[in-house]
Amino acid sequence: MQSMPNSGQDAGIHHNGGWVRNLRTSIVYALVALLLTVASGWHVYHLTFENMLGEIKTQAHHRLETYDNSLEREIDKYANFPYVVGLDASLWEYLADTSNARLKLRSNLYLEKLNDRVGSLALFLLDTSGTVVASSNWNKSDSFVGRDLSYRPYYKNVGIDRIERFYGIGTTNNEPGYFLSTAVHIGDQIIGTAVVKVSLEQLEKSWSSAESPAILSEGHGVVVLSSVPSWKYAALSPLDEEARRQIIISQQYNGHALLPFGMTVRRVLDESSSIVTLPPTGRNGSNLFSTDGLFLTQTRLMTGTPWHLTVFSDLKNAEDQAKIRATLAVLITAVLLGLVFIFMLRHVHLREILQAREALQRANDELERNVAERTADLSAANAKLQQEVEERSRAEQILREAQDGLVQASKLAVIGQLSAGIAHELNQPLAALSTLSGNAVKFIARGDVETASSNLERIGPLVERMGLMTGQLKSFARKSSGEPRLVVLGKSLDNALFLQEQRLLRGGVGVTIDFPKDDVQVWCDPNRLEQVLVNLIGNALDAMEQVNNPRIELSASVTDGVAKLQVRDYGPGLSQETLTHLFEPFFTTKAPGLGLGLGLPISAGIVRDFGGELTAWNAPDGGAVFALTIPIYKESERNGAPA
Ligand code: ADP
Repeated sequence: MQSMPNSGQDAGIHHNGGWVRNLRTSIVYALVALLLTVASGWHVYHLTFENMLGEIKTQAHHRLETYDNSLEREIDKYANFPYVVGLDASLWEYLADTSNARLKLRSNLYLEKLNDRVGSLALFLLDTSGTVVASSNWNKSDSFVGRDLSYRPYYKNVGIDRIERFYGIGTTNNEPGYFLSTAVHIGDQIIGTAVVKVSLEQLEKSWSSAESPAILSEGHGVVVLSSVPSWKYAALSPLDEEARRQIIISQQYNGHALLPFGMTVRRVLDESSSIVTLPPTGRNGSNLFSTDGLFLTQTRLMTGTPWHLTVFSDLKNAEDQAKIRATLAVLITAVLLGLVFIFMLRHVHLREILQAREALQRANDELERNVAERTADLSAANAKLQQEVEERSRAEQILREAQDGLVQASKLAVIGQLSAGIAHELNQPLAALSTLSGNAVKFIARGDVETASSNLERIGPLVERMGLMTGQLKSFARKSSGEPRLVVLGKSLDNALFLQEQRLLRGGVGVTIDFPKDDVQVWCDPNRLEQVLVNLIGNALDAMEQVNNPRIELSASVTDGVAKLQVRDYGPGLSQETLTHLFEPFFTTKAPGLGLGLGLPISAGIVRDFGGELTAWNAPDGGAVFALTIPIYKESERNGAPA
């Protein structure tokens, strides 16, 4: 038999291995998924931030442009006034004679009027030494008149047909302003300086209405305009010695501390823009702007000046947006990867189920193939067996027929042996019949009817006896089927003795019968039992042919449901050789024509068929003993009419 694969165990190992592999794959997948999720979040944050930064930059650029334009416009509005002042001939006159009180008054009034019209902070005139000789605020408490402003750059650097610009805090009234100056000249000779001081406060105020701060820094990097008041006069970068010296000389900031601005650059985007964190709006600063977080700075140099205009744009919104989108991206990526993972798991699971099913199918196919092979083998073996059984039963049938034939043949042989005796037995009554019938005829002829009738009456029993004899012989000779039925043992023995009667009488053989009082009933074919008994009695008679005082003892007993019948003679007994070959076919010690050597083997076969046994031995005091056993008849077991 082919051994089946231990599919259960294999499946277990496979399952276990699969589990470990799955765990490993899951961990790797989880790490990759984590990496991808973080990367997607970072990427989206970066992308969103940069994208919004671009937009903010564009907006800031517009704002910068607007501020720049308005500043230019504001300054340009006053740019020509120094020229206008310088063109006035009466001022020339006054500059030529500054001690003239009338000219002085006229000049002061002129400047005052012009200043009122123009809307500037102040208009004033310096002589060649840098002293204020006339001013629009001549009659105010903070009048500039008489002040020496020769340290101011707008005096020092003044030129013909050129506007000098300067931002500074007034040393008289501490008021910041933008100073524009040009030389008053006659031909190439400078006779004085005309200065207009402009306020940029309005502009500054307009900036503070914007949503994020803006500053204007001058050449040294000091904040001069700022939408956050506390940032004003802070230095964007540390001032060098030279700058400090110039500022001190020009008293530009009138003693202001010029502290560092406190801005930290986080990322330089290009030469004009960077991402920074801003200083707080200061203790007295308004809460207009929150300066927490990142800001974009954009700076531009104002044309024709060393001034830088800077706008700050809050990046909080961009940061928030980027954070929201990054979070969304992380969530979406996680969900997608989760779905992919579930799909993969499902796929793996399905594949495993499919593999298991295939394995099961393979095992099943294998099993079916094995079963089919075994069935085919079995069928073939069965067919062969059946054929053999048939052959065997056919052979048995043939054997049985042969046996039956043999039994019959042996019986006929016995009959042959009996025939001489029987013929002799029949001769006597026949002779008696002949005599009696002949006498009867004679007695009738004589008229002695009485004697004749007596003779005829004696004929009846003779005919009856002859009929009995031939009937017995006929019954013995008939071929029996071997079918068992209820047989009375004594009756069978009587029949056998009757058939051998002639030989017994002729030989003067004494017969002793020792049977139980009650009938012994056995289960066998009566005809065949008689055949065995005739045989055994015949053999005994043969053996005792030369013996004086021949005797046969016939006895029967019943033990343990088995009847035992013994035939004992007083002949020479059985020699050792005879005992060895007694039941072998064709073993005979008799002269040819007297014995075939089939009687005992056939008898033994018959007794075996009954379910009994035929055995032989020598009696201790001489002679042979033949014993046969036959199962006794039991009513509960069998049904049969007595023979
Ligand atoms: P057959 O009588 O034809 O020889 P049997 O099979 O009946 O064949 O007997 C075989 C032989 O057994 C006989 O030839 C005889 O030698 C021996 N035998 C049988 N019965 C007796 C007996 N009662 N006493 C001595 N020998 C016997």
